[in-house]
Amino acid sequence: MAHIFCVANQKGGVGKTTTTVNLAAGLAKVGQRVLMVDLDPQGNATMGSGVDKRQLELSVYDVLLESVPVREAAVLSEPCGYYVLGANRELAGAEVELVTLERREKRLKTALAAVADDYDFVLVDCPPSLSMLTLNGLCAAHGVIVPMQCEYFALEGLTDLVNTIKQVHANLNTDLQIIGLLRVMFDPRITLQQQVSEQLKGHFGDKVFHTVIPRNVRLAEAPSYGLPGVVFDASAKGSQAFVEFAREMVERVKNMPLPVQQPAKA
Ligand code: ADP
Ligand code: MG
Repeated sequence: MAHIFCVANQKGGVGKTTTTVNLAAGLAKVGQRVLMVDLDPQGNATMGSGVDKRQLELSVYDVLLESVPVREAAVLSEPCGYYVLGANRELAGAEVELVTLERREKRLKTALAAVADDYDFVLVDCPPSLSMLTLNGLCAAHGVIVPMQCEYFALEGLTDLVNTIKQVHANLNTDLQIIGLLRVMFDPRITLQQQVSEQLKGHFGDKVFHTVIPRNVRLAEAPSYGLPGVVFDASAKGSQAFVEFAREMVERVKNMPLPVQQPAKA
């Protein structure tokens, strides 16, 4: 059964999408079956996985709103080696449309239950801010991966996210936990980043992933080629770090019991 993880942080531009697509590609590279779900109407994770968001026949919008099965809407990204449940601007309307529906925050959860056995990992790229879309991600997930830059206000920003996760845990999804904090865009030459990194470890202990993702221009260039860095340039430092992170994830989930679920409806 798949481990379902959201990549979330309410801040924009912290590296959520970069983390989602590169972890997906890294996991695929080490032999895992992966589905990447794009929950951001910007569709960056879709484009960054080699799938053209403007040409999607079915997207995560249809899954959430029209109950189209994930199996019908997901497409294989051949260069990346993982499946993509894509998003485009249409998804921006889902926010309003979902409001009138029953179990509106559980629609992704229900949809993913049917494909739980098809994958080892499902990674959900969340939009910034706590929207109904993010809530769908958090309700569907077993855990949250939080990418963060080691900057001055990093810890403060985390408080909001941790509180949100606590609330979702208490009210909607008792399976939800923080899997870990991933230090991204890290520059070891900057003393402040080292200090914040140490603070993080002090506060969160082993919730801080061992792997550190360096600031690396190849990771930033890759999206313009419609690929994750891991696929675009496997030899780049940033790409190697993401493959290392994928290995760390595989190890970490070995000791992670999956929540008991009702059998998925076909
Ligand atoms: P988010 O999804 O949180 O908004 P992105 O993943 O889109 O953030 O990243 C924001 C910007 O930072 C993008 O331009 C991306 O290419 C760049 N970026 C992300 N991670 C790195 C990294 N490790 N090194 C260099 N640039 C990065
Ligand atoms: Mg993003």
